[in-house]
Amino acid sequence: MDRIYLDYAATAPLLPEVMDAMLPFFVSRFGNPSGIHGTGRDARKAVEEARRQTAEVLGAESREICFTSCGSESDNLAIQGTAYALQEKGRHLITTSIEHPAVLNTCRWLEKQGFMVTYLQPDRDGIVSPDTVRNAVRPDTILVSVMTANNEIGTVEPVNEIGRICRELGVVFHTDAVQAVGLLPLKAEKMNADLISLSAHKFHGPKGIGALYIRKGTRLEPLIRGGSQESGRRAGTENVPGIVGLGKAIAIAEKEREENAERIRKLRDLLAESVMNAVPDAKINGHMKYRLPNNCHFSFPGVESEALLLRLDLEGIAASGGSACTSGSMEPSHVLQAIGLDDELTKGSIRLTLGRETTSEEIRKTAQVLPDIVKDLQSMRS
Ligand code: PLP
Repeated sequence: MDRIYLDYAATAPLLPEVMDAMLPFFVSRFGNPSGIHGTGRDARKAVEEARRQTAEVLGAESREICFTSCGSESDNLAIQGTAYALQEKGRHLITTSIEHPAVLNTCRWLEKQGFMVTYLQPDRDGIVSPDTVRNAVRPDTILVSVMTANNEIGTVEPVNEIGRICRELGVVFHTDAVQAVGLLPLKAEKMNADLISLSAHKFHGPKGIGALYIRKGTRLEPLIRGGSQESGRRAGTENVPGIVGLGKAIAIAEKEREENAERIRKLRDLLAESVMNAVPDAKINGHMKYRLPNNCHFSFPGVESEALLLRLDLEGIAASGGSACTSGSMEPSHVLQAIGLDDELTKGSIRLTLGRETTSEEIRKTAQVLPDIVKDLQSMRS
């Protein structure tokens, strides 16, 4: 059975070109970038080229890119790093109730350390209004963290405007752009961002490597102390193959972004329309206009999402309920609760996320199979 993968928001396959670029750095080009000899300098050159590639996509300078081990580490470094660097100035942070756990749990932990956190509520489409950010800023606010695009419902936040307000008020602005690379333009200056989190495996790079854009002049306390790698912001011998893979993957993602996003958007719209026509009591979650082009998030009344996901899996279709990090736990999604979805719809929600390899044939098949399973499950309940 040919499998249909519709879970690109969880992770995306490594591109063969990316693997080819990485492979020499496991074996023949194995140097430590800190070495002063030729082998070390060769690895250093590759790391700096990946830094340049990453910076270019963000319209940034190479020295503003810090490589980390994943998106979660980037979020932790941005938030904890700012909190500890600026605690003399203030101990208040602002975020939203729909962030990824990498942000939410870092903020909750900081609360236990004596920091204060305001969790802003989005509207029913998942939009966090710039006005709520402005109104929440206090004299002791040191950081605002609002994600670029939500990993569950795909809503794209007005980060350019939120960043503008933060800059005007002199507050550091962090945005988790992990879901947005290769789908949205991400220019640090336009976003008015001081800190931007990225994760390579979401854009066809390897797992276990991420990056944090740190605008020049932004103060951060490191999480990992040791050697002076990454300009003292993140100690530890660099993951050279991973860094090379991230650089290559982000360059390709940006080069193909517009064409890819447009193709995927059309397929996504076709899927959404077909499912809504076939199951009229279904609901699409997230903003209809301001959403990632690859995201389709449905709620089906009278359906348990686990049963639906298992039935889809039996048909060879991989989808997800809530985010990857919460699947496996029966906790209702914090994002769906925050947008005010009732319990029944929350329980019957699934996320389908398309990607580079998704074909129209796959979407046609999914658009046929999904409504049949939903109706079958609904009839068993009534
Ligand atoms: N932030 C968002 C919005 C995500 O979707 C994810 C992963 O699902 C992360 C952060 C964490 O990234 P990583 O898996 O690289 O730690």
